[in-house]
Amino acid sequence: MKLLIATRNRHKLGEIRAILDVPHLDLVSSLDFPEIPDVIEDGATLEANAVKKAVELHRATGLWTIADDSGVEVDALGGAPGVYSARYAGEPCNHANNIAKMLAELGGRPDRTARFRCVMALTGPGFPPQTVEGRIEGRITPAPRGTGGFGYDPIFIPDGYDRTFGELDADTKNRISHRANALAAARAAWSHVLGGAAS
Ligand code: IMP
Repeated sequence: MKLLIATRNRHKLGEIRAILDVPHLDLVSSLDFPEIPDVIEDGATLEANAVKKAVELHRATGLWTIADDSGVEVDALGGAPGVYSARYAGEPCNHANNIAKMLAELGGRPDRTARFRCVMALTGPGFPPQTVEGRIEGRITPAPRGTGGFGYDPIFIPDGYDRTFGELDADTKNRISHRANALAAARAAWSHVLGGAAS
C-alpha cells in the first residue's frame, strides 16, 4: 500500500522512514509531488497544522497520508516557540538563527527545561483525520553541541542523557525522540494501515 508522508523536510522524512520500517508500505513524500503547492501552516496548534497538511495532501493525491507537525516548548519562555518553532527567528526557516534567538532569550537562566512535541495526523479514503502525539522531555544547553540531526537538536539534551541530539547517533534519537514516540502511538492506533507494533 502507498502511504504519503506530507513533508518536504528531508531530515524529518529520513527519520520517519528509519523509524517506520514497515515492509508492506510503499512510502512516498511531498517531494514526489512537486506540482502540489506547499501547505500554509497557519494553524494555532500542532494538531491543526498536522491535520491541515494531511487533509490537503490526501485531497490532492487520493493517497493515505500521514503528516507530522512538531516543535519545541521551553518552559522559561512560557512554552515558546511551540507551533512557531520553524520560523521563530523569522521567515524563512533558518535553524542557526532560531538557535541563536533561543539562546539569547534564555540568557544565563538556570531553568532550561523543555520538550519536543510531535503530532502525527492520518487520513485516507473514508477515514476522517485522526491525530496522535509523541513527546520527549529534556533541557536546553547554554551553547550548541554536535552536528547531527536538524533544527534545535544541537541545543537539546534529552532526559537521562548528557549529550545533545546533535551529538547522539541517529539510531539513539530515532529510538527515543518525540517523532519515535508519535510513530509508536500511530502504529498502535492505526494498525490497520501502519501494521501493528514497531519491529
Ligand atoms: P514543522 O515543519 O512546522 O513541523 O516545524 C518543525 C520545526 O520544529 C523544525 O523546523 C525545527 O525547528 C523544530 N523541530 C521539529 N522536530 C525537531 C527535531 O527532531 N529536532 C530539532 N528540531 C525539531
